Amino acid sequence: MIPLFLDELQRISRIIKPLVKEKTPKIYTHIDGDGITSAAILIKSLVREGTNFEIHALKQLSSQTAKEIKCTRDNLLIFLDMGSGQLNTLKEFLETTQILILDHHEPLRFQHINLFHLNPLLFNEKSISSSSVCYLFCRSLNQKNSDSVDLALVGSLADRDQGTEEISKKILEEAEILGKVVKTKGLRLFGRNTRPLHRALSYSFDPHIPGISGDESQAVQLLSEIGISVKENDEWKKLKDLTEEEQKKLASAIIKESYREKDISNIFGDIYTLTGKPEEIQDANEFSTLLNACGRTGNFDLGVQICLDDESALAKSWAAIENYKKVISDSLNMIREGKVEVISNNSAVYILGKDLIPENIIGAITSMALNSNLFPNDKVIFGMVDSQEGLVKISARAPEGKDVNLGKVMKEIFSKIPGEGGGHMKAAGGFISKESLQDFIKTSTDMLGEKIGKEN
Ligand code: C5P
Repeated sequence: MIPLFLDELQRISRIIKPLVKEKTPKIYTHIDGDGITSAAILIKSLVREGTNFEIHALKQLSSQTAKEIKCTRDNLLIFLDMGSGQLNTLKEFLETTQILILDHHEPLRFQHINLFHLNPLLFNEKSISSSSVCYLFCRSLNQKNSDSVDLALVGSLADRDQGTEEISKKILEEAEILGKVVKTKGLRLFGRNTRPLHRALSYSFDPHIPGISGDESQAVQLLSEIGISVKENDEWKKLKDLTEEEQKKLASAIIKESYREKDISNIFGDIYTLTGKPEEIQDANEFSTLLNACGRTGNFDLGVQICLDDESALAKSWAAIENYKKVISDSLNMIREGKVEVISNNSAVYILGKDLIPENIIGAITSMALNSNLFPNDKVIFGMVDSQEGLVKISARAPEGKDVNLGKVMKEIFSKIPGEGGGHMKAAGGFISKESLQDFIKTSTDMLGEKIGKEN
């Protein structure tokens, strides 16, 4: 099956290669880590082609945001990490303008002479990240673009792609062969290369370590109990300084501390070190978190600049991430303390964040809620918060192992009630009006009850 997707990728890249010079590409990309890396990969390749282009970041592509897109037949519209599910909205542009879509969301199936649509799901492939689609496309434009392979991996991690699909594995292999990435085993905590060990532990809220997260002295205590000293030669030790054995020991201790929480056994696993990047972002997972934080705090530009190796942007981005982490931890605490209304039934949990949780982090909060001990781990979680113009932003996350395609569920809901949205298997999102909130809860509960409710 894979050759069909790759054949189409090559066919489209042959058509697009001359077009990027004849026309002015206008690129629209999603603000998250996958969208940022996709943009950086494409920018590097367009610079290589000697092309002038424009780039715009969107929180989402909708009928509303599409109104702001101005283009002529002299443009080539390019959508990254978006577009596949919004073809209805893009139809009017196709009358005058050629459109390239590099995406991995649930696609609509529609053909037009001016449409070049690359999405593995169109070929019944499993989803891979947009950064991977974008990388394969750019490498097909010019083999030299394989120097962006590390960014493809970072984008995948930003999108929590486990890298288990055949294409993702091939991309990782390629990155290792090119010497861009070194894969080892270790403890996956934020701050591996940069934070003193006890601080990395106490700052960890994904996973949340009971008694340790938020308490540095308890973190020091835990380390001393398992015989790991926090200092060596008067310097704070970092996670990367521990041997694999020590990291395993620490992982077991963390898992033991969290025995009543969700399964966090995957905190010991693959570590990807990016050889060509500054130390702060050498851990690909950490880099991907930084990019998601940049996107969610309105620092899309910084994220792209970091991907393009601008070290001054990297320095500026740390303030953004500290602020982002604080807002996330405050929001999770409000949910934990019952300050945020939650509705729970057999098939789903609805977190009604209203104006207490900011719109730009509800996606991250919903993901974390799914992986925390806050709610039962067999239900779909919907995060719902106030957005602009009387709208409510919805983020939905489904647990692994449940036979539910959230992207399709969202589309089905919006065929019954007013709103817009979509997504993929385990993560989706959308917007409704405040008046439709109860309708949304009822319709989604009924729909999911058909699948998940019956199993309970
Ligand atoms: O915003 P959030 O992180 O919850 O989005 C989850 C997924 O749903 C993302 O992949 C996003 O692109 C998709 N989505 C969508 N249409 C929307 C909102 C989100 O396809 N209107």
